[in-house]
Amino acid sequence: MQLTKYGVRLVDIYGIIGAKDVNTLEHLGVEYNWSVYSPTKKSEILEAERAKDEMRDIMSRMIGAEIRYVRLGYRVRQAPYGYMNEKVETPHGRRVILAPHPEEAQWIKKMFDMRVQGNLSDNEIIEEINGMGFTTRSKNRRNVEDKKQIIGKVGGNPLNVKQFWRFIQSPIYAGVNVESWTQGQAIKGQFKGLVSMDTYNKANRGKRTLVEDKDGIKLYKERPPEYLVNKGARNKDFPFKRVVMCPECEKPLFGSASRGKMGKYYPAYHCNKRGHYFRVSKGDFDSTIAEFVKGLKFEPDYAEKLMEAVMQEWDKRQKNTQSDKSVIEKKIQELENSARLIADKIRILSSETAIRYMEEDLAKIETEMIELKEQLAKKDENTINLEEVMGTIKYFLEHLEDLLLDQSKPEKSATLFSLIFQMAPTYAELVSGTPKLAPFVALKDDYAMSENQMVSQLGLEPRTHCLRGNCSNQLSYWPTRAPGGNRTHNLLFRRQTLYPIELQVRKCKLYHPDV
Ligand SMILES: [Zn+2]
Repeated sequence: MQLTKYGVRLVDIYGIIGAKDVNTLEHLGVEYNWSVYSPTKKSEILEAERAKDEMRDIMSRMIGAEIRYVRLGYRVRQAPYGYMNEKVETPHGRRVILAPHPEEAQWIKKMFDMRVQGNLSDNEIIEEINGMGFTTRSKNRRNVEDKKQIIGKVGGNPLNVKQFWRFIQSPIYAGVNVESWTQGQAIKGQFKGLVSMDTYNKANRGKRTLVEDKDGIKLYKERPPEYLVNKGARNKDFPFKRVVMCPECEKPLFGSASRGKMGKYYPAYHCNKRGHYFRVSKGDFDSTIAEFVKGLKFEPDYAEKLMEAVMQEWDKRQKNTQSDKSVIEKKIQELENSARLIADKIRILSSETAIRYMEEDLAKIETEMIELKEQLAKKDENTINLEEVMGTIKYFLEHLEDLLLDQSKPEKSATLFSLIFQMAPTYAELVSGTPKLAPFVALKDDYAMSENQMVSQLGLEPRTHCLRGNCSNQLSYWPTRAPGGNRTHNLLFRRQTLYPIELQVRKCKLYHPDV
């Protein structure tokens, strides 16, 4: 009817839309807008409503069933990156589950592994992954009017940091589905994830935690504990304010300078907003720290165990590098094959345009291959001399005190300071010399008194407690005077060996997520 004014008339095969209009005043030979009508209008509207009803019925049945299956842990949509859909026989009939994608799955696993390892920053991980030839899925773009026509490609991009975080945070890689169809609840899928829940939790460092108990699985998006919340800008005048806790409430201290009557400033660490009053001048505070550090030493066989652990880690990384290399080599081989195929095709072709396009493709493959080969060479360069590494470790062990009390880098020494404790110490504990130290350090006096007891406690065994101190970033602090060391060397060293120490940092990170 809306079409009538444009002179269009619909004809249908069911005969619901009548072909004739009726003029109710025809016998009088007069015609008005209102007197002309289509006698089938009512049934047309009825038919339209009936069709809508049917659509609603069908959609309710279909989407309803899909929602039910999703809640049972099956899949109804396109598989996420790293997976592919697979149909299997189940107690609920032939249903779709996710299976590891033969090529994509390895990237996801690699990302999680590297993140759990914890010695690389996210950007370094991304660089590494891209260097090995990662690309996102690519899809053909089609002409909207003619779906047979391909007009371009989307996807096929290298990894960026946001995508990386999306991958790491997505619980589907631990085999758990959370979406609006599950009303935000975590549902264990009817398939195995690409990584274990444990790996997922470690990689997310407390920001997302999957917990499975008898009531099912829960995904916690945790608010970081109070003492980890950023309390304003870091102040390099008070680097220890989040490392050493208030003796009364065991929460981080504040640091500020109050102005005296004569206009002089008195810097101090304090805690006075939580119902009690604690204040130590910065001078006293710093000398307490210095005193404490001077009383520290490494456990005697720590050096040995550290070397041992380094050696093991070294072996492991060496093996990893080897497998990374073979992945790159495989990729190069694939590219070579496709280059050869294109070259063969060019020989047969006669169209100039086609040949030009082919040549462009060939050039693209060529550059990609060169990049990969560079990466391969870099992998070889990155292997460093184990002896040099051991030398640097020795330096570290011998210069603990200097590193902890380096005045020129107060924030970094504070971070390093926090690493020698099992739990963030309170000021009172520092004064009395009774904080919970990490297993590899001891107090000199203490040690003389109870040698046997201490020896039995130490080691590199996994610990149950975590350092609660402020260790925000990576352990980027390193002496510039290390034997035979330049910056690159130190960086390499840090990456490849400082494992036990970085382990501490990582454990901290569990409680101090700064993704
Ligand atoms: Zn307090």
